[in-house]
Formats: sequence, C-alpha cells, structure tokens
Amino acid sequence: MCAGACKGVVLALFYGASRDLQPRPSVRKHMNAEQAYETMIALSREETLLASCLDLLEWDEEVSMPRDGVEHRAEQRALLAGLVHDRETDPRYEELLAAVEGSALVSDPESAAAVNVREIRRSFKKERRMPRALVEEWARVTSIAQQTWAESRRNDDYASFAPWLEQIFALARERADAVGYEGTRYDALLDDFEPGMTTERLVDVLSNLQQRLVPLVASFRDTPASSEMLERDFPLERQKLFVESAAAALGFDPRGGRLDVSQHPFCSAIGPGDVRIALRYHPRDFGQGFFALMHELGHALYDQGLDRAFYGTPMGDAASLGVHESQSRLWENHVGRSEGFWRHFYPPLCDAFPEALNDVSLDAFRRAMNHVAPGPIRVNADEVTYDLHITIRFELELALLSGDLRAAELPGAWNELYERHLGVRPRNDREGCLQDIHWSEGLIGYFPTYSLGNVYAAQLFAAAERAVGPLEESFARGEFAPLREWLREHVHRHGMRWPVPELIARATGEGPDASYLVESLTRRYRDGH
Ligand code: ZN
Repeated sequence: MCAGACKGVVLALFYGASRDLQPRPSVRKHMNAEQAYETMIALSREETLLASCLDLLEWDEEVSMPRDGVEHRAEQRALLAGLVHDRETDPRYEELLAAVEGSALVSDPESAAAVNVREIRRSFKKERRMPRALVEEWARVTSIAQQTWAESRRNDDYASFAPWLEQIFALARERADAVGYEGTRYDALLDDFEPGMTTERLVDVLSNLQQRLVPLVASFRDTPASSEMLERDFPLERQKLFVESAAAALGFDPRGGRLDVSQHPFCSAIGPGDVRIALRYHPRDFGQGFFALMHELGHALYDQGLDRAFYGTPMGDAASLGVHESQSRLWENHVGRSEGFWRHFYPPLCDAFPEALNDVSLDAFRRAMNHVAPGPIRVNADEVTYDLHITIRFELELALLSGDLRAAELPGAWNELYERHLGVRPRNDREGCLQDIHWSEGLIGYFPTYSLGNVYAAQLFAAAERAVGPLEESFARGEFAPLREWLREHVHRHGMRWPVPELIARATGEGPDASYLVESLTRRYRDGH
C-alpha cells in the first residue's frame, strides 16, 4: 500500500503558525461569521499541527528508530492519536459551523472560506455520527483481524481468517448506515478515500476499463521474459547517487525535503518545507529503487505544490487518495517508463553502471523496464495488468458488502475471476485472497483509488500534452518543468477546492474517463511489443 502521502490525506497533516496556538481558540458568545470562521480555522490548524507530530514519529519509526524503542513509540503514538481524535470531534465545531454557514462569507462556493466550511462540515458530520461503541468495536476487530490475517497468510489457512472478514464487512455495513449515504452503502465507505465519487460512476469507469484491458492483457501472454539485464549487479551507493540526481532534475526541492532508506517505500508530508521520501533499494534489481523513487516523487511534488497560504485547512490539502495516486502513477509510468525520459537519462545511467549495462542498448533496456507478464500478485504487477487486480477486488468487495458473497466463499470467487480476467489461477490462498492487508485493516473502498489514480494520470498527462506540446521531446532534453508546472497550476494548488470529478473536468475538459488509460497503454505497449 502506498504509505505516507496517502495517510496524509486521511489525517490532514498540517501545522499552523505558532501564533495560532496562543491563546487556545474559544467560542465567544454572539460571534459574527468572520470571527467564527477565524476560530474554526485556528482549530483546524491546531488539529493538523498535532497530527503532523504523529506523522513525524511514524517517519522516525520507519527510518531511524532503534528496534527496542517500539513499545515507547507505540505509547507516544496512541496518546497523540487520541488527542487528534478529540480535536476532530471537538464540539465547538458545531457552533462555529452554524455561525458561518449561510453567511455572506461563504456565498461564493469556490471561495477558500466556502470550501473550508464545506469540507470541515463533511468530515465533522461523519465523525460525529459514528457511535463511540462502533468506533471501539471497529478498532478492536480490525486490530485482531490484522494479526489473524498475518498468521493465516503465513500458514495459508484462509478458514481461520474468514470469520473475521465476515465481521469486518458486517461492521462496514453498520458504519455506512451510521454515517449515511444517498446512493448505496458503498458510497459512504468510498467517501473516506475519494470524496465526490459515487459507486455508480465508479462502476461505469472501472467496468469500461476492465472490458478493454482483458483482451489487451490476453494479447501479451506469450511475450518471452526479457528483463534479465535489470537483475545484474547495481551497487547500492551508486544507485542512491543516481536516484538523488534524478530527483533533483525532476524538480524535487532538496531544501524542502529529503531522501532516506526504509523497509517500505513511502512519502511523508511533515509540513511546509518538509516532505520526505523513503526508498528501498535492491543490489540486484535496479527497477525496485528507481520506480519507488518515481512513484514517491510524484506524491512529493504534489505535497510540495500545495498552496502554503492555506496550510492546515482543506484548501491546502490534497483532493483525494485517487488524485494523490494519480500524481505518483503519472511520474512513475508516463514519465519514468517513457522513451524520452531514457533518451536523457540512459547515458548517465550507463556511466554509473558500466559493468551491468555495457552490452545493453537503450531499446533493450526500455523493453526490460516495460515487460508485461500477468501474474497472481498485485504488488508485483506490471503497468498493463495492474488495474485488473483492482477491478477484481472492487467487484468482490461490492459483493461482500451487499452480502451476495459470504466471506467463506471468497477463495473460489477470487480464483475464478483471476482465471477469467488475467488468465492465471493462484496456486493457493497466499497467492490469492490472502495477499493484501487492506480488508483486515477495515480499508473497504480503498482499492479503487489505485485505479482511479491510473485513470486520472493518463487523462491529466494527455491534457498536459495538449497544452504544452510533445512531452517526450521535452523529457529527452532534460526538461521536466513544463509538465510539473502544468500539474501545479491545474491540480496541486487547488487543494480540495472542487469535488474530484470536477477537478478532473476542469483540468482536462471532461469528467473521469478510462479511455485515456486504455489508449495510452495500447499505444505504448503495442509499439514496444
Ligand atoms: Zn502511492
């Protein structure tokens, strides 16, 4: 799962200027709308400042904490998480929102004040509607379910996990009913990750994607393996130097961020001027460190491109998980796998690793980077097959949520869909329905954001190209600013100003449409096939 940046959307990791901390905001009687709004923004900033402390602790835990610090760190995190939750549900919000809503301050729905009030109301309403008993039960069940999942996966014993999965989906139904929804229960869950998206619209986008990807993937089944040259010796220190210089060339601001090493790649936006990327390198797999950089860099550029003036408020926060993921997938796939990119970067790469690459042409190297092979494991999937892993999960979680599919029946349904859509049958449940941690954590409605990210990425890339001219040509000249600045102008700086479908429509001229992704994959992979 994508860490850091994605968590940032959920927790809204922002800090406020220190002046916002003294004195503590309080609700005064007979406040006018302006005063109420200022107090509310101060509360929002305090909440996000606190949450950013939690994020820094999490970064430290992943990157540099000594092993024996784990128990003390767990206590620190639990305390801070509780304080953040108290702030999120602070009853003062109700009074402040009531004083601002309907006032002249929010009459223009696109103004920063109106956006902030709309989004604070949305999340406050949700948090307040969740009964405390359900919050506690949710935490208890998902905590045990995660442990059970890990053990079931280790032992390839799905039967011991099934009752917990059944319970998680039952609790998800309760949660959806508690917070409320207009269309279907799944809408309520989806809203946690992709505000503004509906199940109906998602079915439309993803089923179109699935129908068109299945035959494309089938046409790749006989491609012989050709990625051997990426599994030669790539000394770690030289990989790090290459990746650092690539990050700087692509526009990662080193004064406002850093690169580190960790077990799992992630990007963490601690605050303005502090966006951190952590990568995992492998001495015999160049692609692992490099694509992790491109992915996390996309998240980091988004975080560095948010408008600092709105820091600590929804206007200064990412639009959604799907939009965050669109930025990472855009830089990873549309830039990092492109011919133009490697026309610029392959000569310095060969200089850095002459032993590994002296007999490899640019063309052979690119084919290796873009090798397509359907397999059972999502996290190992190539760009072309990836979204079919997601559409399968989407179909299954809709069926599990509606009760049409019981948890006990999941392995059979899972394997059948893999066979039908990807042409592979998992050999066991470890390779099948036990491979992902998400459902055990209660993350239902999360998987589609990965594919939405891919859909938005292709659509945004095409729109950027229409606006600024052939991008591959500029990449070949080492110019990445035209793309980066277009994204900043049309996506990053708007924060949560519009619901996501509207943000995409304003940036690209039309609502979310999977055709751009399918066309891009067909063009790029058919040519190199
Ligand atoms: Zn990601």
